[in-house]
Amino acid sequence: MSGPILPGAELGVLGGGQLGRMFTVAAARLGYRVAVLSPDDDTPAGQVAVREVRADYEDLDAIDRFARSVSVVTFEFENVPRATAEAAARHAPVRPAGRVLGTTQDRLHEKAALARLGLPLPAYAALESEADLAGVISRVPGPSVLKTAAWGYDGKGQVRLERGADVEAAWSTLGRPRTVLEAFVPFVAEVSVVGVRGLDGAIALYEPFLNRHANHILDVSVWPAPVPESTRAAAHEIARAVLEGLDVVGVLCVELFLLGDGRLLVNELAPRPHNSGHLSIDAHATGQFEQQVRAVCGLPLGSVEGIVPAAAMANLMGEIWTHGTPDWTRALACPVTRLHLYGKEVPRPGRKMGHLTTLGRDVAQAEARVRDVRAAMTRAGSAS
Ligand code: AMP
Repeated sequence: MSGPILPGAELGVLGGGQLGRMFTVAAARLGYRVAVLSPDDDTPAGQVAVREVRADYEDLDAIDRFARSVSVVTFEFENVPRATAEAAARHAPVRPAGRVLGTTQDRLHEKAALARLGLPLPAYAALESEADLAGVISRVPGPSVLKTAAWGYDGKGQVRLERGADVEAAWSTLGRPRTVLEAFVPFVAEVSVVGVRGLDGAIALYEPFLNRHANHILDVSVWPAPVPESTRAAAHEIARAVLEGLDVVGVLCVELFLLGDGRLLVNELAPRPHNSGHLSIDAHATGQFEQQVRAVCGLPLGSVEGIVPAAAMANLMGEIWTHGTPDWTRALACPVTRLHLYGKEVPRPGRKMGHLTTLGRDVAQAEARVRDVRAAMTRAGSAS
């Protein structure tokens, strides 16, 4: 195995969004240069990188040139085609490997992989053709969620179905793609574990985050998730099994449903830093983006210890611009709040424009503060 990729080298990122931006900032702090490839220009990541390449992910000549020009390729956009990752891998290490992307970008492949690892999942059945319909309904008879196998995120491509609903009609409204019919889970909470695995197989796992959604999109995360020690240990065991089982080199997030009886079920995987882990930038000895840099460069992983007792993160979605630009000074005036903006110009509803992280002595205090600060910024905006 070749040695680590050391500061001064140029790292390549596929995808130009906020995850690439925060990766680039973390890499730059360690003395790396970062090049970003995406189909757009002036992207959140491209704005802070030393080089922004505009090319389609399907343009394999451009991918080829890009991979030749960097020491390692990683990604921040998990729907990069697997063929693109494989093309890049002919010229530079791709971490995590394209095979991990191939598994996680298709819900059916992902569930099959999780089932092979013996991990707990909601009941589900694959609906790929007309012939599957009757069997699918008998296997998942109760309230359910119909989800497209590919290109689903933040609740997109999903239909909630009551017991006895017309599954065929719902499937038709999605355009009859490959789908999964999944039992609706009456969870009491959603938690996530962000973990990192190094080139040498070392693993570091953050304490679980507790996640609150609005309109199927993450709204607020708090850390540490107020769950019993047994739940924390079980969540870590699942994350460790996934990181090892998929042979991940890099950061991966496992999203989990917590049931009333304390059991955990895996909802989905993200083979990259995750929105719920953003507070680690400010609340932990090593943030999740620095961990990604360390892992993909073959360096030792950093500590996942918190440097404060608790923290909370609130997303800043396009909606909060409804009455004008939020008053950033309200966030900056709070000494325990950190403002992160992603450099996006157009604040569309549902678009993640930035986030706030607030530190606290406990999760209740941190969450109340981050919500107050967000609300105060918006009220000020509406007054102007
Ligand atoms: P996903 O894109 O699969 O992560 O789904 C987005 C959100 O929809 C999840 O975070 C849950 O809040 C909700 N959701 C998804 N699947 C289920 C399910 N089987 N049962 C209950 N809620 C779900």
